[in-house]
Amino acid sequence: MSRASITRDTERIEASFLLSAPGLAHAPPEDEPEIAFAGRSNSGKSSVLNRLTGNRHTAKVSRTPGRTQLLNFFTVRGGGRIVDLPGYGYAKAERSAQARWQSAVNEYLECRPNLRGLVVVMDIRHPLQPLDVDLLRWATTVRMPTLMLLNKADKLAFGAQQQTLQRVRNSVTAAGADPVTTSVITFSALRGLNVDAVIELIGSWLQPDDPLQAEE
Ligand code: GDP
Repeated sequence: MSRASITRDTERIEASFLLSAPGLAHAPPEDEPEIAFAGRSNSGKSSVLNRLTGNRHTAKVSRTPGRTQLLNFFTVRGGGRIVDLPGYGYAKAERSAQARWQSAVNEYLECRPNLRGLVVVMDIRHPLQPLDVDLLRWATTVRMPTLMLLNKADKLAFGAQQQTLQRVRNSVTAAGADPVTTSVITFSALRGLNVDAVIELIGSWLQPDDPLQAEE
């Protein structure tokens, strides 16, 4: 596997829809590294995926009725997959819907050995909501490389963006996260802010494991 298609052209991640699965029993084999995208409904997770892949239809499949509660897998050209996890936290969601989200996502996060990184998409105006913090805590515990993405940065003036960035970085440090493997980045799916930085990071996560280590 090579990351050529990501590094050669850092403007977008070429990804195509593979399949939707209600749980791991229906997921593709564990033979490729995966990057998971999580986020509250309306954080702009679909827009972020569309922006990173340079295709405004990428996440459409995840939004079609009947698929919003599924794990949606995309194949990345050059190797690896992106997994769009169901959005969480509709203010009015019923408990049963929350429970379904939690069981599908928990099963995926806890039982997927080929998971290499987690992206938590947040609205910069409402960062670190309870389930975002739960994900951060889980990632910290299992030392999963994580990107806390502050989307919709265009909604704030530059100074306010930087203030929130610092505040969230402080919270992440306070939560005990490893600053080397946990990043916080401002982003705008609308304007394309920091697309290159995020693609670079995801590309590094999708790199094959060190062959020397793999042989041990
Ligand atoms: P999802 O429910 O998390 O998948 O969110 P969507 O991608 O559907 O976005 C929710 C709303 O936020 C839509 O109206 C988007 O147009 C808007 N949105 C998403 N990203 C951005 C952004 O970076 N800036 C602004 N201003 N709006 C955004």
